[in-house]
Amino acid sequence: MQIRALTTQSEAETLSVAYAFAAQLHAGDVVLFFGDLGAGKTTFIRGMMQHFDASLQITSPTFALVNVYPTQPRVYHFDLYRIGGDSDLIDVGFEECLESDGIVLVEWAEKCGAMTPPRRWEVRLAVVDETRRAIEIERIDNDHPRD
Ligand code: ADP
Ligand code: MG
Repeated sequence: MQIRALTTQSEAETLSVAYAFAAQLHAGDVVLFFGDLGAGKTTFIRGMMQHFDASLQITSPTFALVNVYPTQPRVYHFDLYRIGGDSDLIDVGFEECLESDGIVLVEWAEKCGAMTPPRRWEVRLAVVDETRRAIEIERIDNDHPRD
């Protein structure tokens, strides 16, 4: 599997990396985000959404669990921080979203558990210092493993 690894020097640079990343996505794609609080998951998603609709206000759906953006394709933005388990995921409609032809973006994706889709992108963010973030982007396809 190919992993793209980079370090951004500023929030603006993360936004522009994310904007470019979004341009290659297709309807039905799922992007899982990993990284501690403040790592930049929401910031990365804000940059991605510039590609779909620059007028949208993007905030983390920490309490709502999911924001639905009226874009083409539709984008589902999950924040699973407060999720208890798989039954909560089902209640919030996670499976339906995965099966839809929307794009699904998931913060705190370690909470996906058994519902982690075999085909997905993973974006892993880590704080280097106040202004720098280490970012890894990986395409995973366990339906069609290459190795
Ligand atoms: P998360 O969703 O992972 O909790 P946020 O995106 O909400 O994180 O917050 C990231 C914070 O880090 C923001 O305040 C942002 O301004 C700051 N920041 C500093 N440097 C960077 C960088 N290089 N990339 C992304 N965010 C950065
Ligand atoms: Mg967030």
